[in-house]
Amino acid sequence: MLSRAAARANRRLRRAARHLAPSPAVQAAPAAGVHDAPPELRITAIKPYPTPKGFPGRNMLFVKVECETADGGTLHGWGESGLSGRELAVKGAVEHYREFLLGSDAMNIGALWQEMYRSQYFEGGRALTAAISALDIALHDVKGKHLGVPVFQLLGGAHRHHCPSMCTVQGIDSVEETVRAVEERVAEGWQCIRVNHGAEAAWPRGGPDPPGGRLQPGQYEPRISLASAVATLTAVRKAVGDAPVLGTDFHHQYTPAEVASALQKMPPGTLDWLEEGIRDESIEAYEVLRTLTPVPFAIGEEFASKWQFLPFIEKGLTNFARVDICNVGGFTEAMKVAGWCEAHYIDMLPHNPLGPVSTA
Ligand SMILES: [Mg+2]
Repeated sequence: MLSRAAARANRRLRRAARHLAPSPAVQAAPAAGVHDAPPELRITAIKPYPTPKGFPGRNMLFVKVECETADGGTLHGWGESGLSGRELAVKGAVEHYREFLLGSDAMNIGALWQEMYRSQYFEGGRALTAAISALDIALHDVKGKHLGVPVFQLLGGAHRHHCPSMCTVQGIDSVEETVRAVEERVAEGWQCIRVNHGAEAAWPRGGPDPPGGRLQPGQYEPRISLASAVATLTAVRKAVGDAPVLGTDFHHQYTPAEVASALQKMPPGTLDWLEEGIRDESIEAYEVLRTLTPVPFAIGEEFASKWQFLPFIEKGLTNFARVDICNVGGFTEAMKVAGWCEAHYIDMLPHNPLGPVSTA
């Protein structure tokens, strides 16, 4: 038996529920999807363009999205994919997506992103997300043109009028010449410099023979390369002092033990960051490496979603988010990663070894 007060409360809840319940007409109508409305900016063509970059293993894939406006006008946008060296796989993925993107409204970028990522059972992965990235960038480009605004206006507007950028000194074999090159960059005003020592530091293990002649063709000796990198980076820091931000990129060629012993041979404070010390498939390996060195890490240029960034951000494994907009899923996903980094006081260090669209 309900008390009088409980019975009154029940009556109030039932009255409130009657107001919340949809009318019979609404209940009978199917839910309207974003694709049901007439497209404001109808996608009419999607064209991938694989483009050689001029040296082995590095190519570009541009994607053009063509649209028709409601009044019959035409616009197009350009995107770029970041999966250099596997651009034909990405081209195939773009062609898959084209099957259902044609006729869609390019204004609904968020919905199209979800459809591309999740509309098949095997979602995500580097090749698919590189294709999504190129399409997402192109969709932002064409939407901005349609609205008459630059893309940054679609992302919250200008936050600053300039941002610090980084230069790279690499491909120089001698310690003295590397030091001289870094000093020249500092004299030019660069305050953030990445020093990749020697040809090997930028050369994929298992790839073509390194140029430069220091090693015999076909040989690759990590310990020789790392010893040379230690000597060079130590000399560079000594020459330029504490003010410039110095980092290096090991291009994930080494084991945790090799990276740890190399970093431990440098005086404390030599490096402000190490980029891609090891490969990123094993979070546990990075956790082990984290215990072996205090040098901040810059990780993420290969990550193909917010979910790949998730453990590296939340476990404190990356100190600079090396997000690549052409790999991570375009502007849509990069902005989500940026928000997550902001919540963890992690700075962005965007990655771009690509072409004019990525750079723009
Ligand atoms: Mg890198």
